Amino acid sequence: MQEVARKYALLGWPVAHSVSPPMQEAAFKAVGIPATYVLRAVRPEQLAETVTALRDEGFAGWNITVPHKQQMATLLDEIDPEAQVAGSINTVVNRDGRLIGHSTDGPGMEAAVREGFGVELAGQAVVFLGAGGAARAVSAHFALHGVRRLWVFNRTVDRARALVGTLHEAAPDIPVAAHSLADTGVLAAALAEADLLIQATSLGLHAGDPTPIPPELLRPGLAVVDMIYRPTQLLRAAARLGCPTADGRGMLLHQGAESFRIWTGRPAPIEVMRRALDDALEKRRTETV
Ligand code: NDP
Repeated sequence: MQEVARKYALLGWPVAHSVSPPMQEAAFKAVGIPATYVLRAVRPEQLAETVTALRDEGFAGWNITVPHKQQMATLLDEIDPEAQVAGSINTVVNRDGRLIGHSTDGPGMEAAVREGFGVELAGQAVVFLGAGGAARAVSAHFALHGVRRLWVFNRTVDRARALVGTLHEAAPDIPVAAHSLADTGVLAAALAEADLLIQATSLGLHAGDPTPIPPELLRPGLAVVDMIYRPTQLLRAAARLGCPTADGRGMLLHQGAESFRIWTGRPAPIEVMRRALDDALEKRRTETV
């Protein structure tokens, strides 16, 4: 008898731009699991009723993107401890009606750093630019996985302080500090000591955006990751200086692979997913130029 297709979704607002459906569908196909992965555009005020509907309709799991990652944490039966620290859920698995939340953004970035630069997190000194949802999820994972030191620079310094308070509570032995993005003196000193810079602000999403920090503060040898999915001005400046660089595609790929593993209990077919992702991003690029 043919297996009934499992149902998965991505919830966001807006969500139409997402390249997750081709990436996840290619993965399910490659391992021979019949499954669908659909986009659901959900307004924030509809999130609770959408979760009830997905459970009733027998969805096996879903991903969550902006702006629902925090609110999703209030609608589940159980939350993985790391996602609890991050205060952010991007993956839900439905285990016999019980909804369990995870955050795969941090493991996704860890895998991208390993793949891009050949380094492990343990012992790294890391500067984060940004204190939004993505910075929260990734810095929580880093704090719980043995980095040596963390700095968070954000435009709104109170938001950086709140994040640093959470990180300190979760990992009291790691020095963590919050600063304003405008405090270029402190930023220069942090970058002189850091091994890794993670750009997690939304600056660079639009052509013509300024760089979030003056590029002259970068130094050769500093590894730079920009969470944005394509080469940004910051990455170009870093590459010119001789910094190893990576854009956000690696994180996007590996967070999706980790969701797949949580849903299926199987290792993700990474290269199949990478090809599907690259094709979808290329298609989107040629449609929008
Ligand atoms: P949020 O909206 O939660 O946070 C946005 C962050 O950007 C905040 O720190 C905000 O600072 C900062 N910011 C926005 N505008 C400016 C500006 N003009 N100057 C300085 N700082 C600014 O977004 P997310 O954290 O969810 O996403 C951040 C970025 O990461 C996005 O570009 C997103 O596309 C990318 N991303 C990539 C992923 C991947 O898989 N590669 C996964 C998730 C996100 P403030 O607090 O002061 O407002």
